[in-house]
Amino acid sequence: MSLKERIEQVEARIRRACEASGRKRDEVNIVAVTKYVSTAETAAVLDAGLKHIGENRIEVAAPKWEALEGRGVWHFIGSLQTRKVKDVIDKFEYIHSLDRMSLAAELEKRCAAAGITVKVFVQVNISGEDSKSGISPEEAPDFLRALSEYRHLKIVGLMTMAPFEAEPEETRPVFRDLRNLRDKLNDLAVTKEPLTELSMGMSNDFEIAVQEGATWVRLGSLLVGKGEEES
Ligand SMILES: *Cc1c(COP(=O)(O)O)cnc(C)c1O
Repeated sequence: MSLKERIEQVEARIRRACEASGRKRDEVNIVAVTKYVSTAETAAVLDAGLKHIGENRIEVAAPKWEALEGRGVWHFIGSLQTRKVKDVIDKFEYIHSLDRMSLAAELEKRCAAAGITVKVFVQVNISGEDSKSGISPEEAPDFLRALSEYRHLKIVGLMTMAPFEAEPEETRPVFRDLRNLRDKLNDLAVTKEPLTELSMGMSNDFEIAVQEGATWVRLGSLLVGKGEEES
């Protein structure tokens, strides 16, 4: 299948998931996860009209970003080592994986020095699996209150990863819990501005995530492909 066909299919599926849950299509943004593919294929994604690019390793992303001269809006979606923050903040407008206070402190320090603001999602480990990063839901109120002190971080919302399930429907409680947590944090008014965004849903489970309120889905293998052998 060509990239154009894959985009069309994903579009149709997002539309259907929106219709099924009474949502508007324009409430859902697509991050095209290009971590598996080359610079040329990443360029093709931008040429096809997708705007948001997701990468999870700075070593892989930086040469692409340079080659593409910063075209697109870049989202850092992987676990971020504190010492790599300085290389990330000048390229990525969004960070989906803020999962600890030490990382927030470094982001604040580096962004303040550079005179920029970065948009962040706090990653929450809803499923509680050991293999998943993220703060626990119980920690979230205090964590977000503390983050609000950082003037160079714009906290836009929450992110989670669901366990891989052969039956995607089984991921629904994870996504629902993230949405409920976002709403609870807004009721508690832990941040200066309400949290609007939910980054949740990947190739295997994005329709369920959309039905449960995702505003950003992160799609790699299904949308962009897994690399040259497949295209
Ligand atoms: C790789 C990755 C994705 C995309 O995964 P696919 O299943 O290929 O769509 C989404 N989010 C994160 C955090 C990732 O690392």
